[in-house]
Amino acid sequence: MISCSMKRMEDKIVTFSKFGDTGKGGITRLSLSPAALEARDEFCKRCKALGMEIKTDDMANIYATLPGDGDLPAIMMGSHLDSVIQGGNYDGVMGVLTALEAAETIVTEKLKHRHPITVVVWTNEEGARFEPAMMSSGVITGKFNKEAMLASKDVDGITFKEALEASGYMGEIENRMNPNDYMALVELHVEQGPVLEAEKKDIGIVEGVVGMINYEFTCAGQADHAGSTPMKFRKDALFAATKVIGYLHEEFDKLDSKLVYTTGRITASPNIHTVIPEVVKFTLDARHQDPEVIKQVVEIIKKIPTEIEKCQVSFKELWSRKTIAFYEEYVDFVEKNADLYGYSSMRLYSGPGHDAQYISDIIPSTMIFLPSENGHSHCEKEFTPLENCWKGANVLLQTILDIDRK
Ligand SMILES: [Zn+2]
Repeated sequence: MISCSMKRMEDKIVTFSKFGDTGKGGITRLSLSPAALEARDEFCKRCKALGMEIKTDDMANIYATLPGDGDLPAIMMGSHLDSVIQGGNYDGVMGVLTALEAAETIVTEKLKHRHPITVVVWTNEEGARFEPAMMSSGVITGKFNKEAMLASKDVDGITFKEALEASGYMGEIENRMNPNDYMALVELHVEQGPVLEAEKKDIGIVEGVVGMINYEFTCAGQADHAGSTPMKFRKDALFAATKVIGYLHEEFDKLDSKLVYTTGRITASPNIHTVIPEVVKFTLDARHQDPEVIKQVVEIIKKIPTEIEKCQVSFKELWSRKTIAFYEEYVDFVEKNADLYGYSSMRLYSGPGHDAQYISDIIPSTMIFLPSENGHSHCEKEFTPLENCWKGANVLLQTILDIDRK
């Protein structure tokens, strides 16, 4: 059976880990930064050496294509090359490197394919330098307004537009992927969680991306002196907030065990150590694949009394997304191909968002997950063993070939 090269896979991982190397096992490769541009240059150099044709669109997404015979739609694979600050060597880049390795195997082994095969690099997936995340796949699928995205600024006040123009990678709007010209996207990605490793599985068959809601809660009390206000006279907004958070945890834990929820941001005002907190705001992010469970979450939120510990409690939905189901036939291909190589696998949903979730709106898409050691991600400890990366490249390659024979 045809396989990718583990040695070439290793070389790719080692080479790309130099771009933005923090010297502590990770990388800082913010979108369109010098380190990110070096990684793009290396990617393009390698694609050209394989005889691929390279195009970039107005959002600097890169499409590197091996031609097929005739006028057939292309099959796309890939992910992103940017990272968060002090991120790891696997998030995103592994989807690009396994795709590159699959393409290299097709070329070196002279594997026949009818459809063009495109390796894609999406710009600014992380949103770590320019918010929001998944910016470019979002723009080309109509989720975000391009002008608003161009105005997004990094911490130094540089706009995304300026960074795009200076990058040398900004192409024509006509080069954006046209859904009519593509029949598939397969995005390989590390799991960024502990499930595959704990279940001792090589390959994650990703059925979709979980739906989520994001709420903001406000507890409003009264700021008073921390020394002179007896406890019974206080309206302590932070104390009220702890009650709300405690209630949410208690009630959510009665729901399905796959529900995950987080209070990731909290602000207290005036936030002075001698003043009773007057206003506390905090967020709630809740995710589950079943819309019924999300509905139950919302019902629990709605039962929160408007007054707790003499403070006014209110909440509002900031945003939400529905569960996305990937294209069943391609999901089955991934499962079949993990079996074909004798790799262990399991079906799961993605908790994090990925470019494939936006692209799945316009062309049939799916994802392949690889285990993340100890579940670490978005940090320098992020790690997936080389052998796993190679296994992922093999499953990706076979899946692309299956789609080609369809
Ligand atoms: Zn990623």
